[in-house]
Amino acid sequence: MIRFEKVTKNYPGPGTPALDRVTVDIDKGEFVYFVGQSGSGKSTALRLVLRELRPTSGRVYVAGKEINRMAGWKVPRLRRQVGTVFQDFRLLPNKTVTENVAFALQVIGKSRREINKVVPETLEVVGLKGMGSRMPDELSGGEQQRVAIARAFVNRPMIIIADEPTGNLDPQTSVGIMNLLEDINQRGTTVLMATHDHGIVDQFRKRVVELENGKVIRDEAAGSYGFQH
Ligand code: ADP
Ligand code: ADP
Repeated sequence: MIRFEKVTKNYPGPGTPALDRVTVDIDKGEFVYFVGQSGSGKSTALRLVLRELRPTSGRVYVAGKEINRMAGWKVPRLRRQVGTVFQDFRLLPNKTVTENVAFALQVIGKSRREINKVVPETLEVVGLKGMGSRMPDELSGGEQQRVAIARAFVNRPMIIIADEPTGNLDPQTSVGIMNLLEDINQRGTTVLMATHDHGIVDQFRKRVVELENGKVIRDEAAGSYGFQH
């Protein structure tokens, strides 16, 4: 589903590469953590999958296509297949929960009829049934993250990319968010999650890809966060 092949990413200016000859193969339906200290290259790896960045060398494949060679007009279609979730939720503050989730479908031209069907279904999947008319500031952090996950998932993408999704949440709320991401993963969506959250990684055992200074130093099935941190 996703393949990094000797991917190196240099940002402009001095310094070591943000990613240094990274090779990782992720199958459809996997759930993979990217762990490592701040600055180790986790976000860079995720952004390459969206083609928000291009590799300096090497190749990134998504669903069999080398996305660096993909024509620019095809990039929106790629991004529709990749839902995103962030630490800071990134909801539209002046829209209701339903409108936040519906917006993702409106921009890709789905019919009102389809939107009216799919949005309530998706709110139910994320545990927010009946909360569609709330505003984001009327929700807890965990509920706001559920809205963000609903928005990422409403289009039933092949892949969900989550960058520190539990970073602003207390441990108990984080467990609820992880249960939801596991549920979505079990529906067939490949999940890539960058995280510093030792407790979560150790409790929800998944494949762990550990980065240090842009290099993969560990790639372990059902790994723990690791001793060294
Ligand atoms: P992480 O997500 O693990 O914190 P990042 O991928 O954000 O790591 O960063 C990896 C390295 O690349 C760091 O040294 C960071 O400072 C650098 N970096 C990230 N984004 C940029 C950018 N837009 N311009 C220059 N350097 C960047
Ligand atoms: P995260 O917490 O997700 O790892 P970062 O703090 O690494 O995010 O980066 C936040 C934003 O700042 C990103 O858009 C990243 O590309 C940019 N950025 C990170 N490090 C640098 C840097 N050294 N120079 C310029 N931009 C950077």
